[in-house]
Parts: sequence; C-alpha cells; structure tokens
Amino acid sequence: MKQSGCESKRRNASNHSSPRRSGIARRMALALMAATLLITPAARADRTKLKPGWNLFSPQQDIELGSKVSKDADRQLPMCNDPQVDAYLNRLGRRLAEQAPTGGVQYPFQFKCVNDRAINAFALPGGFVYINRGAMEAADDEAQLAGVMAHEISHVALRHGTNQASKGAGWQLGLGALGAMMGSNMVGGLLTQLGGFAANSVLLKYSRTDETQADIMGTQILYDSGYDPRALAQFFEKLQAETKGKNPPEFFSNHPNPDHRIERVDEEIDKLGGPPKNYKSDSAEFHEAKKRLLAMPPPRKRPGAAAPGGGKRPGPASDNMADYDGTGFTIKYPDNWQKNGEGNAVSFAPEGGILQDSNGQPALAYGVIINLAEVHGDPASETALEDSTNQLIQGLERSNPGMKLARAHERMRLNGERALSTYLSSDSPAGGRETDWLITVVRPDGLLYLVCVAPETEYDEYGRVFERMLDSVRFKK
Ligand SMILES: [Zn+2]
Repeated sequence: MKQSGCESKRRNASNHSSPRRSGIARRMALALMAATLLITPAARADRTKLKPGWNLFSPQQDIELGSKVSKDADRQLPMCNDPQVDAYLNRLGRRLAEQAPTGGVQYPFQFKCVNDRAINAFALPGGFVYINRGAMEAADDEAQLAGVMAHEISHVALRHGTNQASKGAGWQLGLGALGAMMGSNMVGGLLTQLGGFAANSVLLKYSRTDETQADIMGTQILYDSGYDPRALAQFFEKLQAETKGKNPPEFFSNHPNPDHRIERVDEEIDKLGGPPKNYKSDSAEFHEAKKRLLAMPPPRKRPGAAAPGGGKRPGPASDNMADYDGTGFTIKYPDNWQKNGEGNAVSFAPEGGILQDSNGQPALAYGVIINLAEVHGDPASETALEDSTNQLIQGLERSNPGMKLARAHERMRLNGERALSTYLSSDSPAGGRETDWLITVVRPDGLLYLVCVAPETEYDEYGRVFERMLDSVRFKK
C-alpha cells in the first residue's frame, strides 16, 4: 500500500495542488544539481570545491530525521556494544569531522561499531555513522579506516541522504506532495513513508556522483587531518583486489562504485599538492581496537527478528494497546506494533510489516496508515465526504497500479462522526493481493483517512485488530 502522491495534505500547505508546481520544482532541482560540483579555475591548482545539492529539508531536519532513524537502526542492527571500540571510533571520527566543511552547521557526529563481518559502513543524515567490524578488520592501518570514515562524514556534510529523498528518487510521493509537506511535518511524513530504518532505505541510496563527491571530500578531510590522503584509494583497491571473481563487497551495494574511482582520488591528491609532510598512517589504538574485534564472537541470532523484506510473516498482535496522541485525534494500537511518523501522518505496523515492493521501495504490507487529504467542496456540505473520498481513491489508484474497488462506499460512524467505509484491493508487497480497508471522515483540518492493510489471505486475522483500533479513535473537540 502506497500513499497517494497528489492527495496528501499537511497543515500549512499552500499551492501544492497546482499541477505546474512539480514541473517547475523539478527543473529547478536539475539546474541546482548541475551547479553542485563546482571546480575552481585550474590555474590555482586548488582543491575541488563541493557543497550540498538541492534539498527540501533543513540541516536541523537532517539531524532530527537521522536521530529518529538511528534509534531504529540501533534496535535492528547487531551492535558491537564495546565501549572501548566505540570510544576509539568517536575520538577518531570527531577529529576527522572537525575538518569537514559543513557550512557552519554543527552536526552531532556519533560513530558506532556494528557486529557484522560484511565490509561496509553507512551514515544517516545529521551525522549518525555506523561502521561494520568487517570494515575495521579489513583495514590495514588507521589511515585506511579514517579514509572510510571520512567518506561517510562527507555524505553527511554534503547531505546526500536527504538530497536523494528530496529528489524523490523512487520515493512514492511526487515532488509536489513533498513540497506541500515542507515545514514541521516533513520529518514525520518521510518517517511514515520509510517505516523506520531499512538497510536499503532511500536515505542510503547514493548516486555515483554522490560517491565521487564523498571520495573527493573524504580525501580532503584525510589531508587536512594530517593522514596519508592515499589511504582511501588504497582501501578501495584492496577491496577490489580481494574480491576478484567473488561477490563484490557489500560496501559497493550501499556506495555504488563510480568509474575511475581511484584515478579521481589521485587527481584530487595532485590538486592538494601531494601527501602532506609527516603524514600519519597508523596508531597503536587502532590495532588495539582491531584486536578486540577479532576476538569478539559473532552476534547471537535474535529470534523473530525479520530482515526488512525477508518475507517472514509478522507475529500476532498484542492484546495490550498503546496510546497514540495525534493532532486532532487519539487512537490505540497493539503495543508490539511500531509507530512511524507524527501528528496526522502516522503508520502503525507489526515488526516485519513493512516490506519492499517490486521497485525495492518500502511499502506497508500489514498495519494501518493514517493521513490527511484535501476536502473537495464545502466541508459543511452533504456531499463533501463522498466527493473527497472519491478524489482520494483516484489518487491512491494512481500511486498503486492494479488497485481496484472491492466494495463501494458504505456509511459508518467513527467516534460518532459520519464516515465512509470503502474496501479496495491491490497488489501486496508480500506477494498476491491485499485488502485495503479505507475509512474517511471530514475533520476541521481536512479529510482524515485510515487505511487498514493486510494480505487478502491473512485479512481475517487482522480484521479484529483493525476493528479494535477504529473503536478506540477519539476526536479532539
Ligand atoms: Zn558512499
């Protein structure tokens, strides 16, 4: 179940319904993206100047978003939880981050070791950096580890995660709807769509241009921190050489390998005037941390932890309900389900309830989505509910090809208010078809809609939970 692109509405939205807006915004985005990679005149043999591309989010929202997603990542990933290793990573990482040009923004950089042997690392917006033990164990010296970390820090400083989200790269909301969400609900809206941390989240989908930029800035950071700037390229060379004929390292699935990666880094070192004098390559601390990791057992398998998109069915919903306090309503939901989003844009899903659709994008397969759409016509009129519901369904059909009406509108009451119940059917990200039970009600701030989603074959099991949740809805006066 994807949300409608053009019908979504947030408070304080203006002009978002103009169909021309997204075209203009997209052209602006392309023009600004083209201006991102600024190279100063060659005569000065100066370093490449880089700055963040077009972004709908503010740097503060990068931090807010990264902080929320990182809480989820901490729960889902097998963390090393070794205070000595993490302290070392933070000392090294903050020293490097001091050299990153952030345009005056103070990102609260933090670095954590993940107990995963795959050679990989990633950074969430706002400075939340995760380094697999595999990357630390594969590094020969501190400079190589610093190279990987400087690359990740550069993704943060260049704001690549939210830049990709802003461009709506594969994200189900159109740019127009994204523009309409600007303001306080941006982060909540994006979180609702993301459904928390997923390893292939849109926030970690970098382009090859992003990768080249992170390599160049990473090399500059190494140079400015007094490390051998060749270490970044050396590490990539090593990854490539070690995996000849085998599967490519996981690093390249998060960070797509641009053409001429090593040559481009060497070029930048030339621009910087070669390696700095008395550069650092290694430290005793690095080898101490590496020794601790090599002695660390692999993570214990956590029962019931389903990998995102792993195809595992969610466990049963708890009978105990948690409270959600929305902008204009409250609702109860099973306390073993996860809430994503805030205000009037929120979803509730069991663990494993958010999967990837055929395009690899996160999509809710089990759970409830709540959102606000536009009211068409006079909200006080008799026909506003029906007309607005029809418009919403058309929008949902556009963003969910294959969606069909399964049962036409029926009148119902939601906490005493006039509401419509409509059953839709669409392709489930879990395979087969899903039932989407849509409930709409006109509220002072728009058309509030709830979509209860489950695969057709399992819908009976979830119907009881959905009924309970709907019975618990209370509108604020
Ligand atoms: Zn990268």
